[in-house]
Amino acid sequence: MIDLKKFYTEEEVVKLTQDLVRIPSHKDVENREKEVAEYIYNFCINNGLEVEYQEVDGPRKNVIAYLKGNGTGKTLMFNGHMDTVPPYNMVIEPFSAEIKDGYIWGRGTSDMKGPIASMLIAMLAIKRSKFKMKGNIVFAGVLGEEEQSDGTEALVKSGIKADGAIVGEPSNYEYAIGHRGLEWIEIKIRGKAAHGGVPHLGINAISKAAKLITRIEERLIPKLGGRYNEYMGPSILNFGRIEGGSQPSTVADWCSIQIDRRYIPGESVESVFNEFQELIDELKLEDSQFDAELIRMENNFLTLDHLYLMTPPEDPIVLATKNAIRKVINREPEITRRRGWTDAALLSHFGNIPTVITGPGDIAYSHTKDERISIKHLVDYVEIYGKIVEEFCEIYL
Ligand SMILES: [Zn+2]
Repeated sequence: MIDLKKFYTEEEVVKLTQDLVRIPSHKDVENREKEVAEYIYNFCINNGLEVEYQEVDGPRKNVIAYLKGNGTGKTLMFNGHMDTVPPYNMVIEPFSAEIKDGYIWGRGTSDMKGPIASMLIAMLAIKRSKFKMKGNIVFAGVLGEEEQSDGTEALVKSGIKADGAIVGEPSNYEYAIGHRGLEWIEIKIRGKAAHGGVPHLGINAISKAAKLITRIEERLIPKLGGRYNEYMGPSILNFGRIEGGSQPSTVADWCSIQIDRRYIPGESVESVFNEFQELIDELKLEDSQFDAELIRMENNFLTLDHLYLMTPPEDPIVLATKNAIRKVINREPEITRRRGWTDAALLSHFGNIPTVITGPGDIAYSHTKDERISIKHLVDYVEIYGKIVEEFCEIYL
């Protein structure tokens, strides 16, 4: 078994995490991830890793680094998004990356600049060691995962090849091989305005929306609850936003409901929409004044559907991940079963790359007002990523 500890230090992985966190890269920053990509690019150059940019959106570029073996083994991709969510109402300094109580604190520490640091330091440690690999490592620092996943979309459209991928989202020493697909759906209900003193002359879109919501709760939600996938949990929906009308004294002539719908194998984008359409059609038959339109919300994705992830449990990348975590934590790692949507689904469906999600940090801290990452996690994950490479890319002396 290889021991990478001699080839990197804790300080290195801590400093890399801090440096990345200190460069804000959320959607309100001009050119967002540009400076983070440049930092990673220079870090690779300075440490002798082969690296290039990939054009995505003007000055916003993916950054791709390589560590090549002798060409007789499998290629492993490490994938990490360089953007973060904005600081919003954080109660700590978002971009100072202070160390306290064994954690680095700040926006993006765990989601997911810390994981990127563990990946890059693992690559570097392997490079510095005398070990050789049969396979190759490709690191992809990608854009926009918190928005439309334009970075990983560009990556898979470029035709990049790998035999397995790790998306390093924080996973608290667990790993995920499945998660639900994600659709955002808007239902626009149309009514007819009238003065509030003569409401019978109008058609109240808010009242009609209430009917539809009740119908969805009575008919669709119980059906979804009956569908279950052992790696994802049940099929679900959430009413996330509603608005409508203009003011109290006017019959509301419109109402809009926005729904987050998470679906599982056995369902599809088409079947998801059909189920809402059936209920709308049913209400139209019962009530000639009911008028609603189903809209696929475009801001959730760019061009590739956000399908579910389901990587076969016996795939070599899954086995290598499970074995690597076990060796570091000395027990069988748990599978995370109900996590949110990730770029892993794009890699697996559109890149044909079997993908596993595992990374340092805890998703419970992601996007929070006091985001942090444990330094122990960062170091342990350099080991875990190194051991995944050891098995998957076949390291030898
Ligand atoms: Zn993330």
